Amino acid sequence: MRTWFIGPWELSSATAILPASPREGRVLLVESTGKGAALPWHRWKLVLVLSALRHLKAELEAQGFVVDHRVAPSYAEGIRAHLAEHAPEAVTVQAPAEWGIAQSIAALARQEARVRLEPDRRFLTSREWFAGWAKGRKLLRMEDFYRQQRRRLGILVDGNGDPVGGQWNLDRENRESAKALRAHGLPAAPVAFPHDEITRKVIRLVDGMPGHWGSTAGFDLPVTRAQALAALDDFVAHRLADFGPYEDAMLAGETYLYHSRLSAAMNVGLLHPREIADRAVAAWERGVAGTGPAVPLQSLEGFVRQVIGWREYVNGIYWLAMPDYRARNYFGFSRPLPQLFWEPERTDLACVRDSVRMVRDTAYAHHIHRLMVLCNFANLTLTDPRRLSDWFWAAFADAMEWVELPNVVGMGTFGDGGLLASKPYVSSAAYLQRMSDYCGGCRYDPKRRTGEGACPFNYLYWSFLDDVRRGGFDVGQRMALVLKQLEKLPAAELAAMRAEREAFLASLAPDASGWTFAHDQG
Ligand code: FAD
Repeated sequence: MRTWFIGPWELSSATAILPASPREGRVLLVESTGKGAALPWHRWKLVLVLSALRHLKAELEAQGFVVDHRVAPSYAEGIRAHLAEHAPEAVTVQAPAEWGIAQSIAALARQEARVRLEPDRRFLTSREWFAGWAKGRKLLRMEDFYRQQRRRLGILVDGNGDPVGGQWNLDRENRESAKALRAHGLPAAPVAFPHDEITRKVIRLVDGMPGHWGSTAGFDLPVTRAQALAALDDFVAHRLADFGPYEDAMLAGETYLYHSRLSAAMNVGLLHPREIADRAVAAWERGVAGTGPAVPLQSLEGFVRQVIGWREYVNGIYWLAMPDYRARNYFGFSRPLPQLFWEPERTDLACVRDSVRMVRDTAYAHHIHRLMVLCNFANLTLTDPRRLSDWFWAAFADAMEWVELPNVVGMGTFGDGGLLASKPYVSSAAYLQRMSDYCGGCRYDPKRRTGEGACPFNYLYWSFLDDVRRGGFDVGQRMALVLKQLEKLPAAELAAMRAEREAFLASLAPDASGWTFAHDQG
């Protein structure tokens, strides 16, 4: 008899490695207490993983599989205990999605020949292919990778390998403001999934776990393959068409807007990126053929780029740059995470407060909240990128290290010195005022750079740029223009802004969560 181990990154019989017939062997599912205690995981995330795992167990048993469902200190320990008890001739494991788990299972495989590792097939791009693509390149830019992906996978390309519509990237047509989004109107909320007995039981379990962030209240993420497919259909039918133009806008109190909200389901393996891209393209094709509602190419292309471009690219960067990537800190920032990341009521900055509240209440915020509010704020307050990355990993339902780390240390903070991003994504209040409606309800004035009521994003931003200039940091050509603007600032104003920054930094209470993060636990 053989065994197939299914990790928390492949919790669907459609995406896991499984034998063709239940008669060929057992399935092993492990709940790792070490992983559960490694970080103050958001309670929604715990419910998601545990409920999806237990639903998969029920589904497999209904199909006739014998499932060994264990609770163990780590995934490797769970496999070891299974080997001792059932003595299978082999345990097949799909390559784990995270560095720490991959290391512990690789160590087990070195001691125990019956543990066999198979390549990761939950992505469209193998780690080896990405390494080959990256080899010898001076710059690893997502845009170059994305074009290769389109050609290689035959997605939105014509017979000559050229982009459908003539351009690879239609982002120039996107980026509508918050005002334009408000005028356009909002879609209905994404489809929500009622709890069955399995989820109710998991919620009771998670409610009793001490020390985790957020609450289980309102949990409505898909936890089965059928629910995840329903969530995908709901997005394609109701939000895909307007995804592109409004993907960067933020509205106070509005969480999902035209975003897909599919990342959590994808990252636990309930959906495969190929089927997501294919369903989106099929909807666009129906629109073109006149057999379905129109989906503008700018929205389709923008969405496909996230799924087959960004998602695959950050996974490739992660496996290329680990384990050193965790310690990257280009600017040498050492300040602790501000406690307001756990307690949003500590800040009067409406955009920061609302974004943290959103994460606390839903384990979600869309990419501009993550990039231009949360990371921007952390970077401008000189926060250690590793502490910030730990917060992201714990706080979001969709966070696994392979995806949060490159996004935070690479894209969000420029901590990797430009391996991933072509510039630091920092901004003053002007960007936030255009792309959100927070400033109207905020006690700070986005137009003021210094003095009473000045928005901290302004003096923090200019002080940051001044640090970049003084430190001689290489932040790429795209920053050249703003660094030039810095030179035009009167010295007295810059000095005043730097003084205000010092006072602001001194007012920030440091992280008091008391968590020491056990990165490789699990
Ligand atoms: P949509 O906006 O609808 O996008 C569609 C899909 O594209 C997403 O579901 C996701 O699978 C993929 N995608 C888009 N952008 C990225 C990206 N930069 N990296 C990887 N996949 C992407 N995504 C995660 O899945 N987990 C994380 O822990 C995570 N941390 C992030 C941290 C920061 C600082 C930033 C800037 C981005 C992060 N992202 C992360 C990427 C992105 O913000 C989320 O994937 C997205 O907001 C999830 O919401 P959605 O499903 O509604 O996505």
